[in-house]
Amino acid sequence: MYDYLIVGAGFAGCVIAERIASQLGKKVLIIDKRNHIAGNAYDYYDKNGILIHKYGPHIFHTSSKKVWDYLTNFTEWIPYEHTVLAVVNGKKIPVPFNLNSLHQVFPKKIAIKYETLLLEKYGYGLKIPILKLLENKEKDFKVIADFIYQNIFYGYTLKQWGLKPEELEFSVTSRVPVFISHDNRYFQDTYQGIPEKGYTELFNNIIKNKNIEILLNIDYKLNSSSIKFNRLIHTGTIDEYFEYKYGKLPYRSLHFDFKTYKQEWFQEVAQVNYPNDFEYTRITEFKHFQSRLLDYRKSKRTTVAYEYPQEYILGKNEPYYPIQNEINNELFNKYKKESEKLKNTFFVGRLADYKYYNMDQIVGVALMKFEKEIVK
Ligand code: FAD
Ligand code: UDP
Repeated sequence: MYDYLIVGAGFAGCVIAERIASQLGKKVLIIDKRNHIAGNAYDYYDKNGILIHKYGPHIFHTSSKKVWDYLTNFTEWIPYEHTVLAVVNGKKIPVPFNLNSLHQVFPKKIAIKYETLLLEKYGYGLKIPILKLLENKEKDFKVIADFIYQNIFYGYTLKQWGLKPEELEFSVTSRVPVFISHDNRYFQDTYQGIPEKGYTELFNNIIKNKNIEILLNIDYKLNSSSIKFNRLIHTGTIDEYFEYKYGKLPYRSLHFDFKTYKQEWFQEVAQVNYPNDFEYTRITEFKHFQSRLLDYRKSKRTTVAYEYPQEYILGKNEPYYPIQNEINNELFNKYKKESEKLKNTFFVGRLADYKYYNMDQIVGVALMKFEKEIVK
């Protein structure tokens, strides 16, 4: 008999398991239907010795000292600050779109004029979501906003979500705001890095505790009655748990096409976005994440992933992204209400909360869940 059964060995499941095991001394069983731990943060070395993020580029960034300190108990970090380029009219320009991008896409005189206007209106360092910038109807601002919307957001968002930017919750495109700055980094968080030995090793350290057992290749749906436990923590999709009684929650899926090339490097930075061309949204070159390790830089091959967004089809592919908008959030709230009626059953995680969480956010949420609900 386990004190806790945890469904899902991603950040949500493993962080809560660690807290329960180390702080309460209780017995925990974690199950995952996949054949590995670490959820979507899973990484592995391919046959060329390159560390691959199986489910797409995962860059750790946070401004929460609490989250950073917690994870630092389990890993050293390689300093890494993400920079992304987007191909626009044949040029590779920094994204989030910033003052450097502006100078690359407009002739010099016009770029200087627009830069002055943006600085006067918003001030250096301001981040402004594209949908907000579009509300400014003054002539020059409209030209700038329309350009960014058309060339950076429209095509990418249609590919990524099958929807236009304005059909998604405002927060989605606001993740990549226009940045009135010359700072080319994708994130400005205080703490940024890649776990020194990879995410999977970080997870191995998190769950290294005599009170934690782990079983892989076990789907909760098919095995719930054969495991004896007192309390359940579910980090999978909430609609699946309730057998889709109110209908299916929409998610977005992806297909990753991995290619290895016989050359040292493929592209200038880890991530190049293609908002306007091709069916893929971005290409990730994994070696960049660990380029500070000398041996790694010497490798004569490189592996990249082309990312193709897809409709999520239950049983066929993976539910990577909740599609947050008013209708879907309403449906989620029905499940949430249902979940609140259950005793000794807790829901936490990107899939269970139907929230577009980054890794640091889900670690923060899991720590909070433990402190506020589990300890009680
Ligand atoms: P998950 O990692 O999805 O783990 C849930 C686990 O539950 C899975 O392993 C699943 O197999 C298991 N499970 C589900 N149902 C069942 C069942 N019935 N039985 C057994 N097991 C089950 N975040 C960042 O901070 N930085 C990034 O750069 C970043 N890049 C990303 C790129 C992509 C393409 C994606 C999809 C996400 C990215 N994220 C990034 C987000 C990050 O992956 C999530 O925040 C994090 O993985 C969420 O952890 P979780 O434990 O909630 O969910
Ligand atoms: N986005 C875009 N163009 C870009 C980058 C992002 O339109 O070049 C939009 C798109 O809608 C995307 C969202 O901003 O889904 C969030 O981007 P982010 O890079 O945070 O996505 P993730 O890494 O989570 O897939």
